Amino acid sequence: MKIGIVAIQGDFAAHAAMLRGLGAETVEVRAVQDLEGCDGIVLPGGESTTQLQFLKEEGLFDAIRKFSKQGGPVFGTCAGAILLATKVNNPPQESLGLLEMTVLRNGYGRQLASDVFFEPSTLKQEPLEMVFIRGPIIEELGKGIAVLARHEGKAALVEKGNVLAATFHPELTDDTTVHEHFLEMVAKGAAMANGAR
Ligand code: GLN
Repeated sequence: MKIGIVAIQGDFAAHAAMLRGLGAETVEVRAVQDLEGCDGIVLPGGESTTQLQFLKEEGLFDAIRKFSKQGGPVFGTCAGAILLATKVNNPPQESLGLLEMTVLRNGYGRQLASDVFFEPSTLKQEPLEMVFIRGPIIEELGKGIAVLARHEGKAALVEKGNVLAATFHPELTDDTTVHEHFLEMVAKGAAMANGAR
Protein backbone atom coordinates (compact mmCIF):
# COMPACT_ATOMS: atom_id res chain seq x y z
CA MET A 1 0.00 0.00 0.00
CA LYS A 2 1.26 3.43 -0.92
CA ILE A 3 0.28 6.39 1.25
CA GLY A 4 0.79 9.97 0.09
CA ILE A 5 1.60 12.37 2.92
CA VAL A 6 1.06 16.04 2.26
CA ALA A 7 4.50 17.48 3.02
CA ILE A 8 4.23 21.25 2.95
CA GLN A 9 5.08 21.92 6.58
CA GLY A 10 4.21 20.38 9.93
CA ASP A 11 4.84 16.87 11.19
CA PHE A 12 4.62 14.87 7.96
CA ALA A 13 7.86 13.01 8.73
CA ALA A 14 6.36 11.53 11.91
CA HIS A 15 3.43 10.13 9.91
CA ALA A 16 5.80 8.67 7.33
CA ALA A 17 7.93 6.98 10.00
CA MET A 18 4.92 5.46 11.70
CA LEU A 19 3.32 4.23 8.47
CA ARG A 20 6.61 2.74 7.24
CA GLY A 21 6.96 1.01 10.59
CA LEU A 22 3.59 -0.60 9.88
CA GLY A 23 4.78 -1.82 6.49
CA ALA A 24 3.29 0.82 4.19
CA GLU A 25 5.15 2.61 1.42
CA THR A 26 5.02 6.41 1.77
CA VAL A 27 5.53 9.30 -0.59
CA GLU A 28 5.80 13.02 0.23
CA VAL A 29 3.14 14.98 -1.63
CA ARG A 30 3.93 18.52 -2.77
CA ALA A 31 2.42 18.47 -6.25
CA VAL A 32 -0.58 16.83 -7.90
CA GLN A 33 1.55 14.25 -9.74
CA ASP A 34 2.90 12.98 -6.40
CA LEU A 35 -0.57 11.54 -5.75
CA GLU A 36 -0.24 9.12 -8.64
CA GLY A 37 -0.59 5.53 -7.50
CA CYS A 38 -1.44 6.50 -3.92
CA ASP A 39 -3.97 4.29 -2.12
CA GLY A 40 -4.51 6.78 0.73
CA ILE A 41 -3.65 10.35 1.71
CA VAL A 42 -2.55 11.81 5.06
CA LEU A 43 -3.02 15.48 5.93
CA PRO A 44 -0.62 16.09 8.83
CA GLY A 45 -0.70 18.51 11.74
CA GLY A 46 0.93 21.89 11.49
CA GLU A 47 -0.61 25.20 10.52
CA SER A 48 -3.81 24.83 8.55
CA THR A 49 -3.83 28.34 7.02
CA THR A 50 -0.36 27.86 5.51
CA GLN A 51 -1.23 24.38 4.31
CA LEU A 52 -4.52 25.54 2.78
CA GLN A 53 -2.78 28.28 0.82
CA PHE A 54 -0.23 25.82 -0.57
CA LEU A 55 -2.87 23.20 -1.43
CA LYS A 56 -4.77 25.80 -3.43
CA GLU A 57 -1.69 27.16 -5.21
CA GLU A 58 -0.56 23.68 -6.24
CA GLY A 59 -3.96 22.39 -7.36
CA LEU A 60 -3.82 19.83 -4.56
CA PHE A 61 -6.98 21.23 -2.97
CA ASP A 62 -9.09 20.02 -5.92
CA ALA A 63 -7.02 16.86 -6.46
CA ILE A 64 -7.45 15.71 -2.85
CA ARG A 65 -11.18 16.46 -2.96
CA LYS A 66 -11.48 14.42 -6.15
CA PHE A 67 -9.45 11.53 -4.67
CA SER A 68 -11.74 11.42 -1.65
CA LYS A 69 -14.99 11.83 -3.59
CA GLN A 70 -13.93 8.83 -5.69
CA GLY A 71 -13.60 6.77 -2.51
CA GLY A 72 -9.90 7.24 -1.73
CA PRO A 73 -9.20 7.11 2.03
CA VAL A 74 -8.02 10.37 3.63
CA PHE A 75 -6.74 10.81 7.20
CA GLY A 76 -6.25 14.26 8.76
CA THR A 77 -4.64 15.02 12.12
CA CYS A 78 -5.08 18.33 13.92
CA ALA A 79 -4.48 20.95 11.18
CA GLY A 80 -5.37 18.13 8.77
CA ALA A 81 -8.68 17.61 10.58
CA ILE A 82 -9.35 21.34 10.25
CA LEU A 83 -8.77 21.06 6.49
CA LEU A 84 -11.21 18.14 6.25
CA ALA A 85 -14.09 19.95 8.00
CA THR A 86 -17.07 21.54 6.28
CA LYS A 87 -16.93 24.63 8.52
CA VAL A 88 -14.00 26.28 10.32
CA ASN A 89 -14.24 28.93 13.05
CA ASN A 90 -11.72 31.09 14.93
CA PRO A 91 -11.07 32.50 12.41
CA PRO A 92 -13.22 31.12 9.61
CA GLN A 93 -11.33 29.73 6.64
CA GLU A 94 -11.98 27.65 3.57
CA SER A 95 -11.68 23.89 3.88
CA LEU A 96 -11.96 20.73 1.82
CA GLY A 97 -15.41 19.94 3.20
CA LEU A 98 -14.89 16.18 3.13
CA LEU A 99 -16.23 15.49 6.64
CA GLU A 100 -19.42 17.16 7.83
CA MET A 101 -18.29 18.91 11.00
CA THR A 102 -17.68 22.38 12.40
CA VAL A 103 -14.32 22.92 14.10
CA LEU A 104 -13.07 25.66 16.38
CA ARG A 105 -9.36 26.21 15.83
CA ASN A 106 -7.19 26.34 18.96
CA GLY A 107 -10.38 25.37 20.76
CA TYR A 108 -8.82 24.20 24.01
CA GLY A 109 -7.36 27.62 24.71
CA ARG A 110 -3.99 28.26 26.29
CA GLN A 111 -4.35 26.16 29.40
CA LEU A 112 -4.99 22.92 27.63
CA ALA A 113 -3.11 23.93 24.53
CA SER A 114 -0.58 21.09 24.54
CA ASP A 115 -0.59 17.96 26.64
CA VAL A 116 -0.81 14.18 26.63
CA PHE A 117 -3.95 12.32 27.68
CA PHE A 118 -5.04 8.70 27.81
CA GLU A 119 -8.68 8.13 27.00
CA PRO A 120 -10.88 5.25 25.89
CA SER A 121 -11.54 4.56 22.23
CA THR A 122 -13.56 2.07 20.26
CA LEU A 123 -10.36 0.81 18.57
CA LYS A 124 -8.85 -1.16 21.46
CA GLN A 125 -9.38 -2.06 25.09
CA GLU A 126 -6.51 -0.05 26.54
CA PRO A 127 -6.75 3.76 26.62
CA LEU A 128 -5.51 5.59 23.55
CA GLU A 129 -2.56 7.98 23.89
CA MET A 130 -3.55 11.43 22.67
CA VAL A 131 -1.11 14.30 22.20
CA PHE A 132 -2.86 17.65 21.83
CA ILE A 133 -0.97 20.62 20.39
CA ARG A 134 -3.18 23.68 19.95
CA GLY A 135 -5.79 21.32 18.57
CA PRO A 136 -9.26 22.20 17.34
CA ILE A 137 -12.49 21.34 19.12
CA ILE A 138 -15.19 19.66 17.07
CA GLU A 139 -18.21 21.84 17.81
CA GLU A 140 -20.75 20.12 15.62
CA LEU A 141 -20.85 16.76 13.91
CA GLY A 142 -23.00 15.79 10.95
CA LYS A 143 -25.24 12.76 10.84
CA GLY A 144 -23.71 9.35 10.52
CA ILE A 145 -20.23 10.33 11.67
CA ALA A 146 -18.81 7.74 14.08
CA VAL A 147 -16.98 8.98 17.17
CA LEU A 148 -14.09 6.59 17.89
CA ALA A 149 -12.62 8.53 20.82
CA ARG A 150 -13.37 11.57 22.94
CA HIS A 151 -11.35 14.02 24.97
CA GLU A 152 -13.11 15.70 27.88
CA GLY A 153 -16.35 14.42 26.44
CA LYS A 154 -15.77 16.05 23.07
CA ALA A 155 -15.32 14.02 19.89
CA ALA A 156 -11.60 13.78 19.11
CA LEU A 157 -11.35 10.90 16.62
CA VAL A 158 -14.14 10.65 14.07
CA GLU A 159 -14.80 8.87 10.81
CA LYS A 160 -17.30 8.50 8.07
CA GLY A 161 -16.80 6.19 5.12
CA ASN A 162 -13.34 6.80 3.74
CA VAL A 163 -12.49 9.88 5.85
CA LEU A 164 -10.80 9.77 9.27
CA ALA A 165 -9.97 12.81 11.42
CA ALA A 166 -8.16 13.23 14.74
CA THR A 167 -7.95 16.53 16.62
CA PHE A 168 -4.81 15.16 18.30
CA HIS A 169 -1.50 13.71 17.04
CA PRO A 170 -1.33 9.90 17.08
CA GLU A 171 1.83 10.17 14.92
CA LEU A 172 3.71 11.77 17.83
CA THR A 173 3.25 8.78 20.15
CA ASP A 174 4.41 5.16 20.13
CA ASP A 175 0.77 4.10 19.93
CA THR A 176 0.16 2.88 16.37
CA THR A 177 -3.55 2.09 16.85
CA VAL A 178 -5.00 4.94 14.80
CA HIS A 179 -2.57 4.47 11.91
CA GLU A 180 -3.29 0.73 11.88
CA HIS A 181 -6.95 1.61 11.65
CA PHE A 182 -6.29 3.94 8.73
CA LEU A 183 -4.29 1.27 6.90
CA GLU A 184 -7.25 -1.10 7.35
CA MET A 185 -9.47 1.56 5.74
CA VAL A 186 -6.97 1.82 2.88
CA ALA A 187 -6.84 -1.96 2.44
CA LYS A 188 -10.64 -2.09 2.29
CA GLY A 189 -10.69 0.78 -0.22
CA ALA A 190 -8.14 -0.99 -2.42
CA ALA A 191 -10.13 -4.25 -2.29
CA MET A 192 -13.28 -2.39 -3.33
CA ALA A 193 -11.50 -0.61 -6.18
CA ASN A 194 -10.12 -3.94 -7.46
CA GLY A 195 -13.58 -5.48 -7.27
CA ALA A 196 -14.99 -2.64 -9.32
CA ARG A 197 -12.48 -3.14 -12.13
N1 GLN B 1 -3.65 25.39 15.59
C1 GLN B 1 -3.29 24.81 14.31
C2 GLN B 1 -4.22 25.35 13.22
O1 GLN B 1 -5.19 25.98 13.51
C3 GLN B 1 -3.34 23.31 14.36
C4 GLN B 1 -2.31 22.80 15.34
C5 GLN B 1 -1.72 21.47 15.01
O2 GLN B 1 -1.89 20.91 13.93
N2 GLN B 1 -0.98 20.95 15.95
O3 GLN B 1 -3.97 25.14 12.07
